[in-house]
Amino acid sequence: MKKISVIVPMYYEEKVAEECYKRLTACLQKLTDYTYEIIIIDDGSKDKTLEILENIASKDDKVKVISFSRNFGHQAAVTAGLKHVSGDAIIIIDADLQDPPELIPQMIQLWEQGNEIIYAKRKKRKGESPFKLLSAKLFYQILNALSDTEIPKDTGDFRLVDRKVVDTINNMPEHNKFLRGLFSWVGYKQIPFEYEREERFAGKTKYPLRKMLKLASDGIISFSTKPLKLVGLLGFISIVISILILIYALLSYFLKLNQLSAGWTSLMVAITFFAGVQLLSIWIMSEYIGRIYDETKQRPQFIINKKINF
Ligand code: UDP
Ligand code: MG
Repeated sequence: MKKISVIVPMYYEEKVAEECYKRLTACLQKLTDYTYEIIIIDDGSKDKTLEILENIASKDDKVKVISFSRNFGHQAAVTAGLKHVSGDAIIIIDADLQDPPELIPQMIQLWEQGNEIIYAKRKKRKGESPFKLLSAKLFYQILNALSDTEIPKDTGDFRLVDRKVVDTINNMPEHNKFLRGLFSWVGYKQIPFEYEREERFAGKTKYPLRKMLKLASDGIISFSTKPLKLVGLLGFISIVISILILIYALLSYFLKLNQLSAGWTSLMVAITFFAGVQLLSIWIMSEYIGRIYDETKQRPQFIINKKINF
């Protein structure tokens, strides 16, 4: 029998933990052709979350709990879950029931049809502030403008992935995994799955601006070295400006266009020119640092999906 693993990260979710477990279990029990496990990661909550989870796990051995020593963040929690799953299909879902567990059977169907990554795409988002909607939109636009990997917008971490995708991700030594980027980067047969994002069941968002910015910068920096190249562009622009100033200053000097105080020309040219030279040198260095950075991530150079006649 095939097994479904569900990963649920939780941080201060005492108000939703029980309900989340109930709704997930109700959906999974209906899938009589599969066995399942629910792996819940307590990301260092200091409220009653862990206590509630321990209680649930003591009654239901399909529930496995991992508890972090402190808060390491949503991405780290999901990464830990991925390392501990034993299923053939793995589902990542938020605890707050914004991603309805009732969609799981449809996702499994798509998986059975041969799709390897089924990522849930938000058609609508209920009950989210205009600020969150705008910042999310902006984030995906900037990310895709900068990154070489196409990262689908309006897509969070809610998705179903095949075992082999999880093995691939688990074998990547890079830290600070920006999962939705990596899932897109690995390839395989991917298919979007549209849904309406619900309101949070209870409690508040655990993604304050600070964490959103961290996620955004992880996303951009781990998928792009373009910010480094910006330095080069700035250097180039200042050198061009310095040449223009030089021409202007020389013309004013020889043609007596206007009254310049002595020394202005040489100072201006020196300042802009050397600033340009410095920025260009930094850019050259950043190109090397960018390469080193790419290497240290140790991403595989390729991923083999299948081998035939070997
Ligand atoms: N979460 C986590 N660690 C954190 C922040 C959030 O494990 O440091 C979990 C949280 O419990 C929830 C999921 O990540 O299950 C998504 O968080 P949330 O719903 O607060 O984010 P939002 O939907 O507002 O973007
Ligand atoms: Mg949420």
